[in-house]
Amino acid sequence: MKLGNYARDEWLDGDGDGRPLISAVDSRPLASITSDGIDFGAMLAHAREVGGRNLRRLTFHERGDMLKALAKYLMEHKKEFYALSTATGATRSDSWIDIDGGISTMFVFSSKGRREMPNDHVYLDGPPEILSTKGTFVAQHIFTPKLGAAIHINAFNFPCWGMLEKLAPALLAGVPAIIKPASSTAYLTELMVKRMIESGILPAGSVQLICGGVGDLFEHLNCQDTIAFTGSKNTAEMLQQHPRVISESVAFTAETDSLNASILGPDAVPGTPEFDLFVKEVTNEMKTKAGQKCTAIRRIIAPASVTSDLVRALSTALGEIRIGNPASKDVDMGALASHGQRDEVRERLAELATEAEIVHGGDKDFDLIDADSSKGAFFMPTLLHCEKPLQSKAVHAVEAFGPVSTVLPYDSIDEAIELAKLGEGSLVASIISNDNEVARELVLGIAAYHGRIIVINRHCAGESTGHGSPLPHLIHGGPGRAGGGEEMGGVRGVLHYMQRTAIQGSPETVSTIGHRWIRGADQNVPDVHVFRKTFEQIQIGDTFKSESREVSLDDIDHFAEFTGDKFYAHMDEDAAKKNPFFEGRVAHGYLIVSFAAGLFVDPDFGPVLANYGVDDLRFLTPLNHGDSLRVRLTCKQKTLRGDSGYGEVRWDAEVTNQDDEIVARYDVLTMVATDEHWKSVS
Ligand code: NAP
Repeated sequence: MKLGNYARDEWLDGDGDGRPLISAVDSRPLASITSDGIDFGAMLAHAREVGGRNLRRLTFHERGDMLKALAKYLMEHKKEFYALSTATGATRSDSWIDIDGGISTMFVFSSKGRREMPNDHVYLDGPPEILSTKGTFVAQHIFTPKLGAAIHINAFNFPCWGMLEKLAPALLAGVPAIIKPASSTAYLTELMVKRMIESGILPAGSVQLICGGVGDLFEHLNCQDTIAFTGSKNTAEMLQQHPRVISESVAFTAETDSLNASILGPDAVPGTPEFDLFVKEVTNEMKTKAGQKCTAIRRIIAPASVTSDLVRALSTALGEIRIGNPASKDVDMGALASHGQRDEVRERLAELATEAEIVHGGDKDFDLIDADSSKGAFFMPTLLHCEKPLQSKAVHAVEAFGPVSTVLPYDSIDEAIELAKLGEGSLVASIISNDNEVARELVLGIAAYHGRIIVINRHCAGESTGHGSPLPHLIHGGPGRAGGGEEMGGVRGVLHYMQRTAIQGSPETVSTIGHRWIRGADQNVPDVHVFRKTFEQIQIGDTFKSESREVSLDDIDHFAEFTGDKFYAHMDEDAAKKNPFFEGRVAHGYLIVSFAAGLFVDPDFGPVLANYGVDDLRFLTPLNHGDSLRVRLTCKQKTLRGDSGYGEVRWDAEVTNQDDEIVARYDVLTMVATDEHWKSVS
């Protein structure tokens, strides 16, 4: 069976017989792979002209809904993904990380898109900048989708997660993807893409797949395309230097090799929960995916005084790992993803062994469960010990991408920091310590060299997601050797596929472009109270201006008595005067906000369903007894909540005193019924 290439909304076979792909477990032939003869330039054009156009018609929320539907569909088909995943050498729990982990990443991006991004086509970056004294010239940074394709080149170790963690943010941004999985495990990616396409959920042109080489794809790149690459540093460097990438300034995100460290704190001596947690964490990272995780622990940095205890404890734990056929329930660790990968690990281990002593495992025969060592790409968990890590090079530079890790002793915190930094940039480091001051010192010492740091102690270990798990909420990437890239991180990951533009103009112009009202833009006072309008009827800029109301000393006393807030500034004239902010007793801030609500609320049953909070509340001028207040409420932003029957309306609220000084400013958040919902209940 030849793996398909999905190009221009069609499944196409590449020319020729292709390269054979075999099972990592028993050498059974699985498929062959070739993309020869595919028109890569036409694929790019299709992504730009058809996929991008289709995706950009949708709002962020609609794209979020699409991701959710897709994730649900993939969940329904996960059994077949699990079945095929075994051939990559993955145990059930390895496959869970790849398959369920990938699909849940899609769910998280769907949810973040609908909660943290507007139901719109433009994403506003921060508040407006007021650039002039009269406020008639303002600016706003906005993000819009790039008009090219997202080229996703993935590594072999996570054929599902590796694809989905890149695909979800790209689609949410409104950018079509061309996916190129690593050849050795592309059969699993292809199966998942087949299911995605047959779901009918994705608009035409939004996803294409290359199974095989990328041919002349790079020759057709332009400045609107983005490349997200995961793999080895050598390949990344070669691709980053492609003349077209350079001349077109194509955005290039690289996730490459990483000599991740785990540091045992000096407090975590044998007998402490942290020592045991450390042994567990390291063992787990070596066993999971047979150590073929970009985030796996490669360097075990531990106090010199405990390294012999540590080597003993780790060797015992590693000796208990049952290796063999990943389909067997009795197996903890399967095979490496390909026979070529095992050859690679053997070579890298030989390099490491020139500087460090193998204290457990090694490249030798060992017992397997339900598997044949001559057919599968199995490798024993291997622990090395390097006595003089500060004088060594290979242990900080050579990545054996398998179940291989080296113990590096340190004598002081400064030395531990130095060792961690010798990795020259990593995706992740972990610190296992119950001493928070030590944790701070280590974090501040190594953070600049890392994309993520996890601190584990007895208090969080039970719920910790572990050293090696990148999460869609958090950034994944790292400086230097790790590629200098950054992916995921919630909305941050979506913005990699978008262009940030600073827009300058009048408040009305900038408000219209961003669909968010800015002070100084037009205010429209409608004939009816704004609370009598449905979600659709309310327009950005719709304004309510209240009557004014005096605040008396009785009001302040009453509020203090009623709420129990008898802070001296409200109750004691002399004490209040001693405070640099006040000239005497002042109204409570919450009294001001409550009176303001009393002034703007329209009390009768109406389309406004609920007040669900205020944002950015600031009290700017104290309100003394005898002063009066009034409030202006202007519709700032509207966000329809899918098919719920309501949407969020954000109001700009400004409370002023009798001299038009601003007393308080804040956003009021309301949920307002849609026309349809309002008709059904009124
Ligand atoms: P690789 O050889 O660099 O391959 C990575 C990807 O690049 C594969 O899809 C590969 O496709 C493709 N590729 C190779 N040459 C190419 C070319 N000339 N043009 C376009 N694409 C090309 O890396 P690997 O050996 O598969 O992966 C292992 C490495 O990945 C390890 O070093 C590991 O640290 C790193 N990794 C990093 C992360 C991370 O997030 N930082 C995650 C996983 C793995 P073919 O397979 O078809 O050659």
